[in-house]
Amino acid sequence: MFKEKTFLNFITYAPLVVIPLFFLVVTLLSYQIYLQNFESSISNLREDILNSEKKAVEDKVANLTDIIIHKKAEIKEKLTETVQRRVQTAHAIAENIYNEYKETKSETEIKKMIHIALETFVWNDGESFIWIVDYDGIFHLAPKYLRHLEGSSIINFQDANGRYIIQEEIALAKENGEGFLWDTFTKPNEDSKKQYEQVAFIKAFGHYNWYFGSGEYLNTAAKKMDKELYSLINTVDNMGQNYVFLLNSKGNLLVHKYFPQFVGEDKNITDTLVTDTARNVMDALKDKDKVGHVYNFYNRATNKIDKKYSFIQKIPNTDWIIGSGFFFSEIEDKLAKQEVSMYETYSSESQYIFYIAMFIIVLALIFSYYVSQMVKNSFLKYNEKINDKTTQLEELNSSLEQKVVERTAELSKVKDNFKKLATTDELTSMHNRYSIMNILSSEVSRCNRYKTPLSLIMYDVDFFKNVNDTYGHDVGDSVLASLSSLVMKNLRDVDIVGRYGGEEFLIILPNTILENAKQYAERLRKEVEAYSFETVGNLTISMGVVEIEPSENMNEIFKRVDNLLYASKNSGRNRISF
Ligand code: GH3
Ligand code: MG
Ligand code: MG
Repeated sequence: MFKEKTFLNFITYAPLVVIPLFFLVVTLLSYQIYLQNFESSISNLREDILNSEKKAVEDKVANLTDIIIHKKAEIKEKLTETVQRRVQTAHAIAENIYNEYKETKSETEIKKMIHIALETFVWNDGESFIWIVDYDGIFHLAPKYLRHLEGSSIINFQDANGRYIIQEEIALAKENGEGFLWDTFTKPNEDSKKQYEQVAFIKAFGHYNWYFGSGEYLNTAAKKMDKELYSLINTVDNMGQNYVFLLNSKGNLLVHKYFPQFVGEDKNITDTLVTDTARNVMDALKDKDKVGHVYNFYNRATNKIDKKYSFIQKIPNTDWIIGSGFFFSEIEDKLAKQEVSMYETYSSESQYIFYIAMFIIVLALIFSYYVSQMVKNSFLKYNEKINDKTTQLEELNSSLEQKVVERTAELSKVKDNFKKLATTDELTSMHNRYSIMNILSSEVSRCNRYKTPLSLIMYDVDFFKNVNDTYGHDVGDSVLASLSSLVMKNLRDVDIVGRYGGEEFLIILPNTILENAKQYAERLRKEVEAYSFETVGNLTISMGVVEIEPSENMNEIFKRVDNLLYASKNSGRNRISF
């Protein structure tokens, strides 16, 4: 019963504990994983920020390098377009003048008008202009600085490489009408011996065997482009302390937004940090095209010399080195900000996780309550069934036990009856011969063992044969039954009487001495003598009386009492002998 209650408690409360506990453990484990992820992302944060910043400057430098390469490659293309357009414009103007005045003006006058119109076409501070030469090499329109050569032949002019470029131009005009020519030429306001690479476009003017030409110096265009690129580089990154710097191979600073005082191809910089840094950068790039470089430099934000990372790269086909970077102190600032925002996210997320966990655990509790009720109810149901069966079995058992008791009682009754049948004489209801001899045997043994007195009476009906002979055997039987009733009526409780033979009887008197036995025998003899038997009337009995002698056995005492009975018969009957 106690065990059953403990078990019931167990199955009722176990789900309530086990299921929420399971969800609690799952939740705690999930939170642990989340926490580990958070901690690892916090610990990797510096590295992540550093890497992403490095990547950003690397990308920026790579993009600018691409732009610079592209822009530089465009210079020649642009130059050719420029010169071609100029010459075509000049040619069109001359054509207009010619067509306008060919009927009304003389050739000389028209030529003069074309000269006047085109001598004003000047670019790059007089560096570029329109020239007119005829097929004989006579200079018809010269730039201001060569105006004195107008009217004379320049057919034998050679460029710096010894090429007769005027002759080449005449040949091109004659053969193709127009075309480009790469050559070298002098510049105004400069040494007339010095020549610069230029692209020229020429176009034939057929009316007078002239050709028009114009040129553009490559270095002039390149310088223009460089200026454009410098301003592009200067403005490309205006965020924070980031800037892009540009060096040439001699270590001169070409672009530096925050230190314009150091910028210039021919600046003599006395600041050793700047010159050392420039040298460092060039050393770092000695065997490489690009490299990430760590060094110290002026940090305008902190007004200190700070450690800085820059990605630097040589720009192919130029003597430029471009670079951009960041100060490590900026990373620390970013890190701090990012950490704060991550902790904020973490705290709001962990709150969220907490609520979800609570919700799950409450659900788990409800669920486990239902499970526990379910288990408990089904246990109780089965228990009830088992109890029913047990009751049925108990009832069955008790009814079986009852039956067994009844049967046992019946059997013992039968047994008693059998015993009675086996030990009782049917006619007299006394012990039969077998039984009385058994009792005598045990009484004799008892006397011998405990030394108690024991007396024995044997009696026999006198002249009984006559009764049978006179009245019949049945009357004899009823006389025997009546006599036995009479004897038993006069018997003490402790005394035992049995039928030894036909009409011979034995009375055992336990704890009785001979004297008392004699008195009793005498009283019984008189009682019988006085009794009137039905049909027959008066009868007498003869008796032997003995008391057991020390160590006497059953046969010996029996023999003695038997002899005394015969003694009574022989001495006249209806008497006792002892
Ligand atoms: P005594 O005085 O010498 O005893 O003479 P008696 O006639 O009684 O002689 P005995 O005792 O020798 O004979 C007994 C007779 O009792 C013999 C037998 O026919 C008769 N008898 C024995 N048992 C029964 C019985 O159960 N019923 C009847 N009716 N007669 C019995
Ligand atoms: Mg006899
Ligand atoms: Mg007799």
